[in-house]
Amino acid sequence: MSTLFIDGRWVAASAGGTREVINPYDQSVVRTVDDGDALDARAAVASARAAFDGGHWSGWTARRRSGVLHRVAELLQRDRAEIARLETLDTGKTLVEGGIDVDDVTGVFRYYATQAESDPGRLVDAGDPSVRSRVLYEPVGVCALIAPWNYPLLQMSWKVAPALAAGNTMVLKPSETTPLTTVKLVELVEEAGVPPGVVNLVLGPGGTVGSFLVDSPEVDMVSFTGGLETGRAIMSAASATVKKVALELGGKNPNIVFADADFEAAIDYALLAVFFHAGQVCSAGTRLVVADELHDRFVTELVARAERIRLGNGLDPDTESGPLVSAEHRDKVESYVEVGLNEGARLLTGGRRPDDEALRDGFFFLPTVFDECSSDMRVVQEETFGPILTVERFTDTESAIALGNDTTYGLAAAVWTSDADRAERVARGLRHGTVWINDFGPYLPQAEWGGYKRSGVGRELGHAGLSEYQEAKHIYENTAPEPQRWFAR
Ligand code: NAD
Repeated sequence: MSTLFIDGRWVAASAGGTREVINPYDQSVVRTVDDGDALDARAAVASARAAFDGGHWSGWTARRRSGVLHRVAELLQRDRAEIARLETLDTGKTLVEGGIDVDDVTGVFRYYATQAESDPGRLVDAGDPSVRSRVLYEPVGVCALIAPWNYPLLQMSWKVAPALAAGNTMVLKPSETTPLTTVKLVELVEEAGVPPGVVNLVLGPGGTVGSFLVDSPEVDMVSFTGGLETGRAIMSAASATVKKVALELGGKNPNIVFADADFEAAIDYALLAVFFHAGQVCSAGTRLVVADELHDRFVTELVARAERIRLGNGLDPDTESGPLVSAEHRDKVESYVEVGLNEGARLLTGGRRPDDEALRDGFFFLPTVFDECSSDMRVVQEETFGPILTVERFTDTESAIALGNDTTYGLAAAVWTSDADRAERVARGLRHGTVWINDFGPYLPQAEWGGYKRSGVGRELGHAGLSEYQEAKHIYENTAPEPQRWFAR
């Protein structure tokens, strides 16, 4: 089956390009997919434009659109095992993680199915009985949805569900490294009854397919999740056509642990925060900021447990963490070990590839902990996007907050303490889009997700996640017009 979806048909790339999708566990070829270029992107945009301008989806009632979104949610659950397996083969994550992603995404489709129906706009009190003033929320138009490789299905769905709910048409551009679950998602969207032209899919490189979408005057909005540098390039390119831009970028997220925290829970979550999915999580807790008096006990235990993490094949139920996504990405992560050592950080464990022969063909990297770090170090400031934890110490609440904010990013943070007042003070003091108190990682479809500062522009999930894909239109109606006689009195 061809893997580009344009105007309701599965097609090959017009220039015949293909790309092998590699399993990061053993470098085997999972599947060969079609690899498009700017010409394919042009055809996909034309299809989305025609579908939008023809009202093929935006003209449906909200209830009818909502029914289709509910159906997508059902189909995701029907094919849960298959999708989880695809995500494991494509990204290296464990099957359990892949299954969690499918469940989360199902919840997101259900949430926006409900939101689609409960968003009739609002009446505005103009303070004048002869005026009828209303605000309507309309779709933005043609949306380019560009996603990264770490959560391929999840990140794309956070865009597709609200964009569809709001009545837009779209072109999807997943990461060239991990396209498989997006192909599957589009199959399900088609099966659920979304009309031809509404959802189009173009696989291919960011520099050609992605750039075309961002530059195209026929595209009204770009919603992008990915790295800071790409986000900057997109924001700047989008200025030429003044299109709407939503950016979900990186993070360097502090996990702040006070001495009065529940030790067992805090240790457990500190490991989960940084080593889940081998640290390839935008909201990973890669900066442990720990109370001075707790430091030695906490870090000793954390290192002991990090050394017991079982690396392996994501399909194996005993595996606790899979490989990194690609050879290129492992090189990047590995380079940060040298950076940390040169800056004077103390390597407590990891910092290299595993010796285990069974893992030789995979892109594995050992869970790594650097102690004696400070916030002026690059290894503390830059997103390593791998299993590398840096440890800093603090002495009081104010310095903990200051350290937590000493980053150009602002995506997520956590605070661990048994003092509720202090937890609240820290949570409010932190300049991050999500703050967890005595937890790390959960999100809710109903609650906004996104970044302060260089972690992005705009929000996904929650009501704001729908608003990103809407234009507000004010209709002001004068029900008893009288001449004003301003001119020519
Ligand atoms: P990336 O920026 O390299 O690529 C992301 C997507 O952009 C890919 O589909 C790529 O092909 C495309 N792209 C590349 N150049 C482009 C261009 N010039 N124009 C248009 N599209 C282009 O990111 P990545 O390496 O795939 O993903 C990792 C990054 O994603 C990390 O920085 C991570 O923090 C971030 N991320 C953020 C969130 C969040 O919610 N804030 C979630 C997941 C990942």
